[in-house]
Formats: sequence, C-alpha cells, structure tokens
Amino acid sequence: MHKTDELQANILCKSCGLCCTGHLFIWVRLKAVELDRSQALGLNVIRSDPRQRGFTQPCPLWQGQCTIYTSPDYPRVCRTYQCRLLIEVNNGDTPLKDALSSIEQVKGTIRELETHLPVASNNNFRERLVAYIESTERPARHEKTDSELRQKAESLLDFYEKVFGIKDLLDRLQEQR
Ligand code: SF4
Repeated sequence: MHKTDELQANILCKSCGLCCTGHLFIWVRLKAVELDRSQALGLNVIRSDPRQRGFTQPCPLWQGQCTIYTSPDYPRVCRTYQCRLLIEVNNGDTPLKDALSSIEQVKGTIRELETHLPVASNNNFRERLVAYIESTERPARHEKTDSELRQKAESLLDFYEKVFGIKDLLDRLQEQR
C-alpha cells in the first residue's frame, strides 16, 4: 500500500472499527492453522462446526483500536480485509473527509438502534439486528411492530450494503487476498 493510502486507511479504520466490534459481522473465519494461536491471543475461537471455524465478534481485543496488530499471530483475515469504503478511499474515489462523515452517520444510526434492539445472549449487535428484523417479519399476534425502528434497521442494512459492500445478512468477514 502507498504511504498516503496507509495513512488514510489508518485514520479511517481507527475512527471506525465496525468490522471488529460486531456491528457488521457475527463471526470471522480463520484458517485451521490459526485457531490455536488466535485462541492464545485471547480471541473467542469457535471450531466445533467445520463450516463455522473462526472467532466471534465483538472482538475482545478491540479497545478503541486493535491491540494485537503487531503480533506475529495477527490473523491474516484481519490484516487483509478491506470494506468497500476503505477500497474507495484508497483508490481516490471517495475523499477521506466524506468517508469519515459516512462513518459518523452510520455510528449515529447504530447508537439510536442500540438502545432499542432486544438483547441477545452474546451481545453481538449484528445478531440483535438480524433477530429483530426476523421477528418483525413474523410478528406474534399480540405484538405491534415499531415501524420507525424497523425502518431504521432496514436503512442501516441498506447502508451496510451501499457503503461497506456487505450485501447479505449472512455475510461474513472473509479473507480477500
Ligand atoms: S469497516 Fe472498513 S473502514 Fe471500518 S474499520 Fe473495517 S475496513 Fe476500516
């Protein structure tokens, strides 16, 4: 990566972190050889199902910034993942200042939703969002759907798709290179 791109990526990702905090993803895939060392680093590794081999989010090692970035065992997927917004900034298609205001906008929506979504056992925002949207698709007879909340949840998913390039509820953070 060019030095200026690296600097911009640093500024953007440090102000964001959403691909680490469980707001975009429920879990992250790891290579089989990375499971033990990732667990030793302190990641919550899942491995009982070969189709779901990785670690869950929110990442416990994200504390306002990644705390294992310089570790030799830093998972490859964490090093290589780039969302659409980051790619656009690096390509010069989106100015950094616009990207930063997109992040502010999405974080504002997340903050509004966070207080209203039903609580899930592992406190993963994406999981709570999915569960909420599914529950409003089949509301129990006595339940009233909060249409404003539902609209916000849907617009957040649109935002995820348009801005971050995450198309599906079941998208997972995958290695890109
Ligand atoms: S979601 Fe994109 S901009 Fe945000 S931290 Fe991840 S790669 Fe960086």
